[in-house]
Amino acid sequence: MRVSQMFIPTLRQEPAEAEIISHKLMLRAGFIRKSSAGVYTYMPLGYKIIKKISEIVREEMDRANGQEVLLPIIQPAELWQETGRWDVYGDEMFRLKDRHNRDFCLGPTHEEIITDLVRGEVKSYKQLPMLLYQIQNKYRDERRPRFGLMRGREFIMKDLYSFDVDEAGLDISYKSMYQAYSNVFKRCGLEFSPVEADSGAMGGSTTHEFMAIADSGEAEIVYCKTCQYAANTEKAPCNDPQGEVIQSDQMKVLELVETPEVQSIEDVAEFLKVDKKDTVKTLVYEADEQLVLALVRGDRELNEVKLQNLLGASILEMADAGKVASEMGCEVGYLGPINKDIKVIADYEVKYLGNTVVGANKAGYHYVNANPARDFNVESYGDLRMIEKEDPCPKCGKELTFARGIEVGQVFKLGTKYSESLNAKYLDENGKEQLMVMGCYGIGVSRTMAAIIEQHYDENGIIWPVEIAPYKVVIVPVNEKDTEIVEFAEGLYTELTQSGIEVALDDRKERAGVKFKDADLVGYPLRITVGKTYKEYGEVEINIRRTGERITEKSEQVVSWVQAYLEDNK
Ligand code: ATP
Ligand code: MG
Repeated sequence: MRVSQMFIPTLRQEPAEAEIISHKLMLRAGFIRKSSAGVYTYMPLGYKIIKKISEIVREEMDRANGQEVLLPIIQPAELWQETGRWDVYGDEMFRLKDRHNRDFCLGPTHEEIITDLVRGEVKSYKQLPMLLYQIQNKYRDERRPRFGLMRGREFIMKDLYSFDVDEAGLDISYKSMYQAYSNVFKRCGLEFSPVEADSGAMGGSTTHEFMAIADSGEAEIVYCKTCQYAANTEKAPCNDPQGEVIQSDQMKVLELVETPEVQSIEDVAEFLKVDKKDTVKTLVYEADEQLVLALVRGDRELNEVKLQNLLGASILEMADAGKVASEMGCEVGYLGPINKDIKVIADYEVKYLGNTVVGANKAGYHYVNANPARDFNVESYGDLRMIEKEDPCPKCGKELTFARGIEVGQVFKLGTKYSESLNAKYLDENGKEQLMVMGCYGIGVSRTMAAIIEQHYDENGIIWPVEIAPYKVVIVPVNEKDTEIVEFAEGLYTELTQSGIEVALDDRKERAGVKFKDADLVGYPLRITVGKTYKEYGEVEINIRRTGERITEKSEQVVSWVQAYLEDNK
């Protein structure tokens, strides 16, 4: 297409509202425009990228025997009530009513809808396995929509659902999706790592997240170079250190001490001249509306995912300050487990603390010489903390490496969670009813676009991998008034177009410098400059965006050179 006719409103200035590079560059290159928080318009070039990614996804899903459908965005509340998720989904769900006052939501995901469809239509084992997928907008009223396409409230997802006769069938579907996901992200030019992840909230057993490695990623992952273990830090277990529990004769007398204006663990440790490791951090949560005290060693960070799993809670939230004050009779900085009739659960490490420091549930006071076995009732000990740099690999005990990642996809073994609650059954070979065994598999198509940019850019703009680029080549005639130059550029444009290559011709009446800047910003893999050397020697200059290389090529060789380059760099 001719750049003069394209709708590419590029910006010279850094957009103030953007924090991460992909968001900045997408706005500057005219790929997206914001409509409201977390809701975007895809401009022509941006939408081309979405279509390229979608096409790769489609090819890989089809190759794995997926069949594409398009499910409704508007979903009736009744289905969500059947699975119990109408209440659990909470504020993240966009809810609406029709004119008859019936409840609906805008689909944040489609397990309910698809299982309802399949339970109505699929009756026999002969029809299974069945893999159905769609590429569509999803709606989630995220607490913090941010980073452009990275965390939207309206975003594009590919979601596939597998229905099998048994666990063995699900294993096969899961493996084949895992492979298909690896193919997709490889073709998108991403450096990625599949990691073990938590399956708590979705229900189900095994799950992996596909993480694009990037410092801007919201997730933290941990991996072991020795045994290849890789997990989301939310998931990575911290085993019971199997230390020694303090003997009763070593326990000192519990003492209430005044700790005025001292609330954080740092301040408490400094004030009492003890190591943070020798104190206990008390946190109050509301788990399905019941208050719970969670204890970790003072130097550790509590892992909410582990806490929620240990409690088996559907909803877990930090208790709000008002509730804490009324039920505990004290503000957050001085909370502790002694003399409280509230459920207490603690991290393994707390078991091995002796003569430790805890809040006294009294403003301005802590207890010293507290001993878990003697002074407070822990209902259960478990793994409650975040894994840290010096922790050994939970599998092989060797050193761990940490990195940040963008979750671009996730695969889940759901088992029978949804087929049970929605009664999705088939008749087996003996005519007996059996529950279908399900898996679900999501790819964030719009987030993948952002992740690609996070890994492929320089100070001048985006560097699209060849397969993703909106146009593979831009032709820049340096002087629009020079008929010899313009004629050759036009001819080359026609020839490349006819050979099936996506090419842009920058025919704007702009200085060459402006065209070069825009070409770098938009990220075309190749730029062909037609200028003086064409007139003098019949040669053009080819710039490779990724490497910055410049190549001079005879004008009659250009088309075959471009074809060969694109073929080699697919
Ligand atoms: P996150 O933990 O980042 O909120 P999620 O685990 O809730 O994501 P899934 O339900 O697994 O998301 O959705 C499948 C994929 O959809 C994710 O792997 C991600 O790539 C994408 N995705 C999820 N939420 C968003 C969002 N708000 N904006 C853009 N993409 C998203
Ligand atoms: Mg996920």
